[in-house]
Amino acid sequence: MTATSSSVRVAVRVRPLTENEKQHYAIKFIPNNEQQIVLDGDRSFTFDYVYPPAADQNLVYSTCVIPLLNKFMEGYNSTILAYGQTGSGKTYSMGIGLDSVMNSTINEGIVPRFINSLFEGLNANKSPNYSFQVYVSFLELHNEDLVDLLCPTAVKRTGYVSNLTIREDNQGNICWSGVREEVVTSPNELMGYLQKGSIARTTASTDMNNTSSRSHAIFSVILKQQVTISGSTDDTTLNNLDKLTRSPSDQTLVSDSSTPYIKKLTSKFHFVDLAGSERLKRTNAVGDRAKEGISINTGLLALGNVISALGDESRRVSHIPYRDSKLTRLLQDSLGGNSQTLMLACASPSDSNITETLNTLKYANRAR
Ligand code: ADP
Ligand code: MG
Repeated sequence: MTATSSSVRVAVRVRPLTENEKQHYAIKFIPNNEQQIVLDGDRSFTFDYVYPPAADQNLVYSTCVIPLLNKFMEGYNSTILAYGQTGSGKTYSMGIGLDSVMNSTINEGIVPRFINSLFEGLNANKSPNYSFQVYVSFLELHNEDLVDLLCPTAVKRTGYVSNLTIREDNQGNICWSGVREEVVTSPNELMGYLQKGSIARTTASTDMNNTSSRSHAIFSVILKQQVTISGSTDDTTLNNLDKLTRSPSDQTLVSDSSTPYIKKLTSKFHFVDLAGSERLKRTNAVGDRAKEGISINTGLLALGNVISALGDESRRVSHIPYRDSKLTRLLQDSLGGNSQTLMLACASPSDSNITETLNTLKYANRAR
């Protein structure tokens, strides 16, 4: 893996062939090369990480998610975007599908693994001067409408968030209001909200796959950390403080000599299971479905433009078009700047999906 200067990293994961796919691979991997992928015999693409079908969930997690988790705990906002056509493995990789969240297995995906490591890491800090709070929210973006998956009315599919406002404070932090944010104190509790939201997640069928999701799901974990520095501070706390002060979001609240220093940090981690990237015309969608398709593509298009503007150092783009869709507006302070972004582009290996796979690789390539 290369150390790119861009805060956006791109991983491509190719899932195994399924039984009803044409048993013919359109993709080749180069032995001992974890960054290159060759499509259709001659088109070669290079990414930060390339995962062939044999790569398991643990490999994906340990190589591309743990580095983000570590930065997140130091106070950096982070985002993982799962991109790809319906059936390419986005939900499987994220680990937020119903089967995955109801029965934990060795095949569990990114989010359940993250939940366990996060609490392990936080609880490892035994300093009495350190404290933390964890909050969660879980949204679904359907057209430009939001469903709050943690709000009971959303389960009845009437729960569009009508009073949502997205506000930017003077430090560039994006604040959502009108969205339910639950406090959690253990990994089990956080898993409980993941389950609750996954059950509530609405899906609409298309001709292509009757469980295909036409919406974006955003599972967000907010971490607030606090370190109090008094005169008798031990070394461990100072070490932590040192780590924490290098963070972009640190806020020193009190600094006169008679009172302790309080160091406060807030960071957010968004896990985004994007809507299927397939083109509308392939799914024969009509009526409301067609409307959804058009709007979903607006979000994906805006996201592609934002990500490519972020990666474009030569052009020194000053304007990043976050406001072009609700998706990019919601994620604004966690894409670009000091935040860490991973695009996980998912693809089928089959010859029968070659057109969509090429589109996915091209989209992912724009992020580099
Ligand atoms: P998407 O969310 O992109 O529509 P899914 O995650 O639902 O796709 O994956 C489609 C199917 O393929 C599911 O049955 C899933 O379990 C399976 N699958 C996807 N990726 C893998 C993988 N890497 N290994 C094994 N099975 C996978
Ligand atoms: Mg899915």
